[in-house]
Parts: sequence; structure tokens; C-alpha cells
Amino acid sequence: MTVALPKDELATSAIDSDPASRRTPYIPKNKRRILCVFPKYSRSFGTLHHAYPLTAKVQAFMPPQGILVVAAYLPEQWDIRFVDESIRPCRSQDYQWADAVLVSGMHIQRSQINKINDLAHKAGKITMVGGPSVSGCPEYYPDFDLIHIGELGDATDRAIEYLDLHRDRPPQQIRFETEERLPLDRFPIPAYHLLDLDRYFLGSVQFSSGCPYRCEFCDIPELYGRNPRLKDPQQVLAELDEMLRFGNLGAVYFVDDNFVGNRRAAMELLPHLIDWQKRNGYPVQFACEATLNLAQSPKLLEMMREAYFCTVFCGIETPDTDALKAIAKGQNLSMPILDAIQTFNQYGMEVVSGIIIGLDTDTPETGDRILEFIRLSQIPMLTINLLYALPRTPLWRRLEAEGRLIFEEGRESNVDFLLPYEQVIAMWRRCITTAYKPEFLYQRYAYQCEQTYPNRIKVPNSPARTSGANIRKGLTMLGKILLRVGLLGNYRSTFWKLAKPALKAGNIESVIHVGLVGHHLIKFAQECGRGDESASFYSQKLKR
Ligand code: SF4
Repeated sequence: MTVALPKDELATSAIDSDPASRRTPYIPKNKRRILCVFPKYSRSFGTLHHAYPLTAKVQAFMPPQGILVVAAYLPEQWDIRFVDESIRPCRSQDYQWADAVLVSGMHIQRSQINKINDLAHKAGKITMVGGPSVSGCPEYYPDFDLIHIGELGDATDRAIEYLDLHRDRPPQQIRFETEERLPLDRFPIPAYHLLDLDRYFLGSVQFSSGCPYRCEFCDIPELYGRNPRLKDPQQVLAELDEMLRFGNLGAVYFVDDNFVGNRRAAMELLPHLIDWQKRNGYPVQFACEATLNLAQSPKLLEMMREAYFCTVFCGIETPDTDALKAIAKGQNLSMPILDAIQTFNQYGMEVVSGIIIGLDTDTPETGDRILEFIRLSQIPMLTINLLYALPRTPLWRRLEAEGRLIFEEGRESNVDFLLPYEQVIAMWRRCITTAYKPEFLYQRYAYQCEQTYPNRIKVPNSPARTSGANIRKGLTMLGKILLRVGLLGNYRSTFWKLAKPALKAGNIESVIHVGLVGHHLIKFAQECGRGDESASFYSQKLKR
């Protein structure tokens, strides 16, 4: 007799009772030692690296989900070692230990990915690269022995079989390309046991992959599809449980390209997240990336508030309506942008925004309009980036057809802007240095402290939140912030204008949040002003 289990029970039992079922179906004939390496993440505005010295032990932004999932997918008979080079460099003993070296990463990590390949080859090891960069541009990695194109799937099983049967380097590069993706709801839980979670600034979890929109500059729809693929809610909860087992980072970021790419699925997931938070005493805040038109879904917003979503990253890109039309970002036009931001704030969510400079519609006045938008929106953190054309995007193809792609050593972007290059760079520099002048930034944070944070649900002082480890961590951060920013910082009077009343009101969490993030933003912008940081996240200029 077959007993039909409720869906939730089915999913939980599948995850809990049989983790091996989420590994590759390939049964290896040999024992192998696999070294998984994630290259040092290049410093960028979004990595918040200037905040790390104000924490207890943070050294990197988020655990690298992709390669940790691959590590969990490998045969259980194999020995796996994982090195995140943001935490420590890969040493010659690591290469010596391994039979094969696996690397993953994004375009920005390209030179380091290739360097790891060289070092592994020097140690005589067979190498394989997978992940978003090689999937978009296989030609960036001509010297790897094996390249894995696309997501986890049939190609992964074939690559595993190859590594099982061969220890020597092949005479020429072999390409494995996924035709049949592993459904997201069959993904294994990332191998958190291989890392020290406390070294990371944020936890991360993935619910969906892909985005239904078609913004001109974005490679997500072509790489991951327009019909978002999803995990089962129980699978997401199992991942959160597993993360908590290895440490509590206090905040978890949904790394989905668009958390509401499939609204019905988000609606189905949120009650599970709310229950999980209640059951566990609200151990973490959530953050996600979502399109601005989420502001038109009050039901979703209310559930996100209940699940303790405190931050939402929106690709606003530009406040200019014509520019949004030109870059095919019509989804930002369904309601006035400032109203949408205010709506998020009313649900307790601070908005983080992407802004792009160098669009074809830019004029000499664009910089002023962006700064005015920042003032009116009261958004504290905006990633202000120069336009960069990524391969496999409509932007790349258009600019290529127009002869407007430039590959010049030392240039901040590969786009031939319509405005003079130097003018665009100057506009970017002025925007970023003005936006993060301590006084201006702290004004916006003061607004958030008054108008946004009080709208969040009041979370209980549960054991998960008030554990000895958490209190020690909080006190360490507060102590370092008060010392380095409040006492020794060159913007200490600005800091105290916000911190004094907040501390008096017992609002320690806000002081820590603003102190940490604000410090990074101010320092990073000062470096941009001096020309020490690049104008585009993707620019290889300084990364070399
Ligand atoms: S909404 Fe975001 S993820 Fe989707 S295509 Fe646009 S930029 Fe890319």
C-alpha cells in the first residue's frame, strides 16, 4: 500500500533521510581527492570590506554558494577540501594533496581563476573551471584542462566520471556542457561543513534562478533563463537549518537574481519563512534582490515584513524615465520610483539601489539629477557603477553592431560612451564622492532610523538572538565602532549626532548597522575620489 505524505513531509523526508540522493548518481570506481578553490573576491563597493575590521572575525562577504553546492554534489566516497581565497590563500600543500583542482568564479575573478590554474598545473594536477564566468565566456579560460559550461546537470556527471577515470592532464582542453540541468529542487545543501561560517559578513541562500525581465545590460535571462526555476520551500528551510548548525551570521541574503521573479512562488515560500523565524526565535534578518514593482504587492510586502526582511536591493539604475525605457527596464515605470521606495520603507525595508552612469541617454546634467534623486529618496546605500557591456547581453550585441565596444588597457569600461569618456568618469567620481560625504550619508541614515527601522516587527529576545556568542559579537562590533569611528574617526562628530540619541534610546542594533556599513561607504568613496578604486565593478583596470 502506498501512503501519500503531505507535500511538506515528503520534501523534508527526502532532504533529511537521504542526503546521498542529492549527490551525483555516478558511482565512482576510484578514490579521489578534490580541491575546490574559490578565488579571492576582488574588492568592490558591494563587498563592504572596510567594515570587516570593525567586526570580530569577518574576512569575506558571503559563502560562495555555487562551488559549495558542487562540493556537496561530488561522490561521497571522495575527499573534498575547500579553500576560499578571501579567507586564506591556497597553499602548495593543498595543490600537492589534490588529485584534481576545481575552480569557479565570476568575470571579475578571471585573472585569479587563471592564476590558480597555473599553480595547479605547476603541481602537475588536472584542473576544471565551472561557474558563471566560464559559462558566459569559455574563451577566457583556454589553459584549463576541463571546462564546465552551464549549471549543475548532465555535464557535471560526465565531468565527475572523467575525473574518476583520469588523473593525468588531457592533451587538449575537454568541454562539458550541460544540456539537462539538475532541477533546482534536487540541488544538494551547500557544503557548509567545509568552511568557517563565522568568517563571513552575511549568510546566503538561493530560492530561485532566472528572471522574466530583459534589461538591456543584464546577462541573467540568457545565462539562467526567463522562467525562474525554484527550490521547494522545505529545501530552503533545510538550508537555513544547516547554516544555523554551523554558525549564526545574523543576516541571510537571498541571492536570487529577482526574489519575486515568480510572485506566486514567493507567496508560497513566505509563510514557511515566517514559521521558521517564529520557531527559531528570529535568529536572522533577511535581505533580497527584487524588482521595484514589488512595491505594488502589499500582500507580499506584509509577509516579507512578518518574515523579517529588512533590506531589499532594487536595480533602480536611473531616475530618468526615458533612460529606463531605453534600457528596457519598463518594470521600474509601473509606479513613481520615489513612491515605491517610500512603500518599502513603510514595511520596514531599507532600500539599496543600483545606479548606472554612462547610459546613452545621459547628459551633462545627469550627475545632478542622480544626486537630487539620492537626496529625495533618502536611500543610504547605492552602488553607483559605470556602464559595462557583459557578453551575452542585448547591450553587448547592440554596441558590437554599432562598433562601440572598446577593449583598451587601463580603460574603466568597454563601452564607447556617447558623452566624452573623461566627462563620464568625472560625473561618476562626483556622484560617488558627494553621495558618501559623511554628513550627507548620515542624514539619510538618520531618516532610515526614524522612518524605516521602527516599522519592522518587534522581534523577541529569544535564546537564538541573545546567546552568549551573539552578545559577545555585538559588543565587539560596538566597541570597535565606538573606538575607531566615534573616537578616532575623522567624521566622529557626524557619527555622534546619530549615535548619541540612538544609544540613549537603547537602539544599539541601528548604531552597529550604520556604523559598520557607513564606514565602508565613506572609506570606499574616499578611495574612489583619490582614483584608488575603479568606476566599474567589472573593470579589470585596478584588479590587474
Ligand atoms: S530585473 Fe534584474 S535580474 Fe532581471 S533582467 Fe533586469 S537587471 Fe537582470
